[in-house]
Amino acid sequence: MNMSETLLSELQNQMPLVMQPLHLKAAEGKTGLIIVDIVNGFATVGAGNLAPPVESPQVSRMVEEANKLARNFTARGWPVFAFLDSHQPGKAEPPYPPHCEIGTGEENLVPELLWLEDAANATLVRKDCINEFIGAYQSDGSNALLDWLNRHKITDVLAVGICIDICVMDMVLTLLSARNHGMAASLWEVHVYDQGCATYDLPRELAEELELGPGAAHPQDATHHMGLYFMAARGAKLVDSVEV
Ligand SMILES: [Zn+2]
Repeated sequence: MNMSETLLSELQNQMPLVMQPLHLKAAEGKTGLIIVDIVNGFATVGAGNLAPPVESPQVSRMVEEANKLARNFTARGWPVFAFLDSHQPGKAEPPYPPHCEIGTGEENLVPELLWLEDAANATLVRKDCINEFIGAYQSDGSNALLDWLNRHKITDVLAVGICIDICVMDMVLTLLSARNHGMAASLWEVHVYDQGCATYDLPRELAEELELGPGAAHPQDATHHMGLYFMAARGAKLVDSVEV
C-alpha cells in the first residue's frame, strides 16, 4: 500500500462510514436533486486553475452518476437544482486562485450536463462563494435554495457534486441547520451520494513541490472520506447506491 492508501485504510478502520441504498421509488415524499458545481472549472481536465490537470476517475465517475440521476429526475419531472460557481472577472475568492470567471467558459456546466440549461424541471443558480446557502441569497433578500425547497415541498434532498469536502459539505451542513431552525418546513432528510461526489487530489509532496506549503496537502481519497464523515456526523444520510 502506498501512503495515501494506508491513510484511507486507517480512516476506514477508525472512522467508518455507514451507508445505505436510497430507494427513490419507495420514497413517500418528494425528492429534489441538488448538483453542486459540476462546471468546467472544477471538473473538465485542463479547464482552469482549479480543474483536474489530468483525468481523475473519481471526477469522471461523479459526472456520469450525476448525469444519470439528472436524466432520471427529469424523465419523472422531479425538481433538479444546480449551483454553478461563477465569479466576476478580477474579483478574487481567497484563498483560491482565479477560477470560474464569467466569460471564460469555466463557469458553465460540463458538456455532459449542459442539457440541464433547457430542462424545465431544472433551476440553475450561479454563486460566488463556497457556501451555496449564502451564495443563494439574491439582491432582494430572498434565498433561491430555500424558495426552491419550499415551492416544491421537498422532503428529501439528494446531493451530488464537487468538492465533497468543501462546497458540497458547506451546503449540506448549512441545509441541516436551516432545517433544524425551521427555515425549510417540508425538509426531512439530506442524503449525500458517495459516487456522485468528488474532490481534487493534491498529495503533500506535490503541494510542497508547487510551493503551496504543507498546509495545502489534500489527498483525494482521504479528504473524500473525511467530507462524508463530517456530513454524516452532523446528520446527513450517506448513500452508496440510488435506485430510481
Ligand atoms: Zn469559486
